[in-house]
Amino acid sequence: MRSTFQLGLAALAALQACAFLPAAAAQTAAVPQISPAKGTPGRTGPICDCPQETRAPVTILISIDGFRPDYLDRGVTPVLSRLAAEGASAAMRPSFPSKTYPNHWTLVTGLRPDRHGIVANKMEDARRPGETFTMATDDPFWWNAAEPVWLDAERAGIRTGAQFWPGSNVAIGGRKEKPTDWETIGGERPADWAEFNQAITGEQRVDGILDWLRRPAAKRPRFLTLYFDVVDSAGHEFGPSDGRTLEAVAQVDKWMGQLVDGLAALGQPANLVIVSDHGMAPTQSSRVVVLGQMLPLDDIELFESGTYASLTPVPGKEAAVEKVLLGKHAHMECWRKRDIPARFHYGANPRIPPIFCLAETGWLINAKAPEKRFAGGNHGYDNYSPEMAALFIGHGPAFRPATLPAFDNVDVYPLLRDLMGLPAKPGVDGTDAVFRIAIR
Ligand SMILES: [Zn+2]
Repeated sequence: MRSTFQLGLAALAALQACAFLPAAAAQTAAVPQISPAKGTPGRTGPICDCPQETRAPVTILISIDGFRPDYLDRGVTPVLSRLAAEGASAAMRPSFPSKTYPNHWTLVTGLRPDRHGIVANKMEDARRPGETFTMATDDPFWWNAAEPVWLDAERAGIRTGAQFWPGSNVAIGGRKEKPTDWETIGGERPADWAEFNQAITGEQRVDGILDWLRRPAAKRPRFLTLYFDVVDSAGHEFGPSDGRTLEAVAQVDKWMGQLVDGLAALGQPANLVIVSDHGMAPTQSSRVVVLGQMLPLDDIELFESGTYASLTPVPGKEAAVEKVLLGKHAHMECWRKRDIPARFHYGANPRIPPIFCLAETGWLINAKAPEKRFAGGNHGYDNYSPEMAALFIGHGPAFRPATLPAFDNVDVYPLLRDLMGLPAKPGVDGTDAVFRIAIR
């Protein structure tokens, strides 16, 4: 027997389905803003006799920042674990460095950071003296070396909606000009996009995606992105094994349940591509390589530090700095950028400073010794470290159950093209070969 709650959902779903037919009428009518996941028990809305719309599958790319695949084994992820079991799953290798922006841009461009130009979360470029790229930078200058998948989709007539994906607020191909007060001129964005706002809760983010899918067919995205940051934040603050990080994992799992229920209530089939950008390794104040104990800090311009350090020797000190730093040390190895091991595919881009030091996973490289004790988590390490492994789950009508071998995250981009029916793009760093056993 169906409960009042289920009947309420069915009535709401029918109402919403009808709201799209005819589309013209729906655009002027108020579309219900009630999340079907929460339901409206006892609702007795008018059920019209229009035929239920049969929806084609959409593609939803979901990033759970900093989610390690082994979080699925901790007993707090009923939804994600079920999706993994029913679909294709893997421990995916992030691109190097295992940082947030480089990897989010790789996932949607199919290029490694050296080629797509977002080589770090913080960068400089000799063509823009005095300027520093940060995660808030939306000047297309920094992003224009690669094209995200949503642009090709838009050109193919597939409407896209990107919520919070790094780079989705950037007018790719455009430029900012000083005389116009840094207004962006030209360029292309997804048809729908939303600037990142950490204050928007996960529940509201899912509601936002579902609202896009409640639109009339002509204005409804068929490729969407969704982004959750709380697992990464907790991982940094408490470390990957802490109960409070697991609470964040459980919270995201609930939001995923809200999404899955909401899609079902809309009658919206979806191919979900659920990924993370990198994993998380435990760090603590007793595991710090102190550069200031190795050389005078005045001899270097330290650009980034932490899980890796990137630096430029001050003029005249090049030989002295190289003599001290280059090579293997306890818990750290340093290279000239051109000598970074080939497996990292990193070091050719002009935005990478001339000397690059990578910490052993779990260690940090800082200028000075820590003043306070701390324990937490971090990422940016060797992308082949098990702690840096990223989540991959493919679930929906296109996927069959499969446990895939580890693959590089550059392969997600060709998969997204396949799911949208876009032709393969030549010249990218990834291929869809790993997914062939998992795609129907
Ligand atoms: Zn991240």
